[in-house]
Amino acid sequence: MSGIYVHIPFCVQACTYCDFHFTTRLSDRNAMVKALIGELRAQMPNWSEHTFRTLYFGGGTPSLLTPSELAEIAKVAHEEGQWELNEWTVEANPEDLNPNTLAALKEAGINRLSIGVQSFQPEVLQWMNRIRGNCNAKQAVEWAAEAGFEHLSLDLIYGVPVGDHRRWEDDLETACNLPVDHLSCYILTAEPKTAYGHQLRIGTLSAPPDERVLDEYATLCDKTKKAGFEHYEVSSFAKPGGRSKHNSAYWDGTPYLGIGPGAHSFLDGCRWWNARSNARYMKSAEKGDFTTQRDSELLDANDRFNEALITGLRRVEGVDPKALLKHTGLDIQSQSKLAALLADGRCEWVNGRLRIPEAHWPLADAITLELIK
Ligand code: SF4
Repeated sequence: MSGIYVHIPFCVQACTYCDFHFTTRLSDRNAMVKALIGELRAQMPNWSEHTFRTLYFGGGTPSLLTPSELAEIAKVAHEEGQWELNEWTVEANPEDLNPNTLAALKEAGINRLSIGVQSFQPEVLQWMNRIRGNCNAKQAVEWAAEAGFEHLSLDLIYGVPVGDHRRWEDDLETACNLPVDHLSCYILTAEPKTAYGHQLRIGTLSAPPDERVLDEYATLCDKTKKAGFEHYEVSSFAKPGGRSKHNSAYWDGTPYLGIGPGAHSFLDGCRWWNARSNARYMKSAEKGDFTTQRDSELLDANDRFNEALITGLRRVEGVDPKALLKHTGLDIQSQSKLAALLADGRCEWVNGRLRIPEAHWPLADAITLELIK
């Protein structure tokens, strides 16, 4: 079963920490919708042997498209492929949500909303450059619940350089008391080409100390557990039945099709990705040939081994060494650093699978680096 990701590359303003691909030039919106539909029609014949199960609109800010534009893109995806749809997610910013829009999104067939709250605190949102109008994120989530979506997820960020530990506890308490079945909670990272990266470089701001970030992580694990969420991936927490099917498929190595500027696809050991340029992408759409703006790579056994570890060791299930050996011909047990990682508790065997214990997940990337080829 495969999934489709559609990238909507528009935002109203740039968040301080963001290095995703987007533009604030909203005037290209109609042309972009046409281009996305064009790429779908061009790509789908290559996927005729696949059945799609999940559709995911990410960004950027998908909620800047109207519900009918989102539905138009989804309709083409359905016309051109075989589907057993059981999850259609749209990322939305709280300020774009009101009861009318939510009813229209629900009516379009979307059954999962992923709401980019990031924080409920004005001071933090101000620093993130996420204040737009008089938005009340808590109210937006309550409206979404009243609209009757099957699944609701919130994004939150911790380890931010403003506010203190108490603000993170307040954000978590608010989130855990809302009627949602999923939380995605990310540690803030300073990407070089962002305003945050710049502030750190010129010294106008300092990153929070590691101890504070680790304290916030411990609070996150504790509060979500008490609220009935399962911590099933480094950044992901779900109530029973609330796991993201789309993201879980990425982590399983399932084929996926990515549509839109900057979107990645994966099929039969090959990965390809579109240029992170709206202009190049829309030009390709005008010519009816998306291949010239695309790059690709064929994954060899080492790449497949590394990917399986990078994604698998972020999950509570960890990695099955037998499946890895069958899939790549490479044996995790022969990795020289494994013994040391097991000895100091940064890795463990559970039911024959290798995993990183939850307490060490904030360092999952660094631990995985020691094991990859
Ligand atoms: S809304 Fe999302 S994609 Fe847009 S700038 Fe902010 S973090 Fe980046």
